Amino acid sequence: MSETLFSKIINREIPADILYEDEEVLAFSDVSPQAPVHFLVIPKHPIPTINDIQADQALLIGKMVLTAQQLAKQKGIAEDGFRLVMNCNENGGQTVFHIHLHVLGGRAFSWPPG
Ligand code: AMP
Repeated sequence: MSETLFSKIINREIPADILYEDEEVLAFSDVSPQAPVHFLVIPKHPIPTINDIQADQALLIGKMVLTAQQLAKQKGIAEDGFRLVMNCNENGGQTVFHIHLHVLGGRAFSWPPG
C-alpha cells in the first residue's frame, strides 16, 4: 500500500496541528478549514476507503466517532451541533486515501448538501 500524506503526519514526517493521539487514532486540524472548526480524525492503521473497512475494525471506527465527540465537546461546538463527514472515492470527493472523519462546526450547514 502506498504511503499517504496522513501516514506522514502519523510518522511526524510532515507537521500538523495535532489535537489528540493515542495508540489507535490521531486527530489534527484540517489545513484548509471549511468551517470555523474543522479537524480530521484518522485511524493510525491505514484503511484506504470506507469500502475497505472490515468487520473486525468496527470498534476502531466507533472509536473515531467517540474521539470526534470528545473533541467537539472540548472545542465548544457540541451543544450547537456539528457535522461529521467521511468521503469515499471519486463521487464522494475523497482526495486522501487513508480514511478520515471530517468534524466541522462553528457555523450552520445546509441539508441536502450540494
Ligand atoms: P477528503 O477530500 O475527504 O479526502 O479530505 C482530505 C482533507 O485533507 C482535506 O480537507 C484537506 O484540506 C486535508 N488535508 C490535506 N493535506 C493536509 C495536511 N497536510 N494537514 C491537514 N489536513 C490536510
